[in-house]
Amino acid sequence: MGDTIFGKIIRREIPADIVYEDDDVLAFRDLNPQAPVHVLFVPKRAIATLDAATPADAELLGKLLLAAAAYARSLGVAGQGYRTVINCNEHGGQTVFHLHVHLLAGRHMQWPPG
Ligand code: AMP
Repeated sequence: MGDTIFGKIIRREIPADIVYEDDDVLAFRDLNPQAPVHVLFVPKRAIATLDAATPADAELLGKLLLAAAAYARSLGVAGQGYRTVINCNEHGGQTVFHLHVHLLAGRHMQWPPG
């Protein structure tokens, strides 16, 4: 897989507003926020897309979601609610090919999405 801007953030080659880190996951604020809270949860071991994930990635994918949920709880927004999104490939709107979970909170989300 080619390197991406998220790889550069993980290696601290470019700055980001990092809000959470553990051995497997890095989370930082989205540069172009779509909600009052918009944080990206990124696995340190890159997977290009959800479509490229395999059963060997199951634990890592679970860790990403649990990290997002725990962060939302820590902010106090879990009770009101939030949205998690994984965009996959062109029709999904994916622009950075290093799998990531968007955590969006702080406003009412519309459904269906645009
Ligand atoms: P996606 O379209 O699902 O691939 O999401 C990529 C997200 O990364 C977009 O919401 C961008 O605003 C965000 N983004 C791109 N570059 C950066 C960056 N350097 N720091 C933080 N967020 C970024």
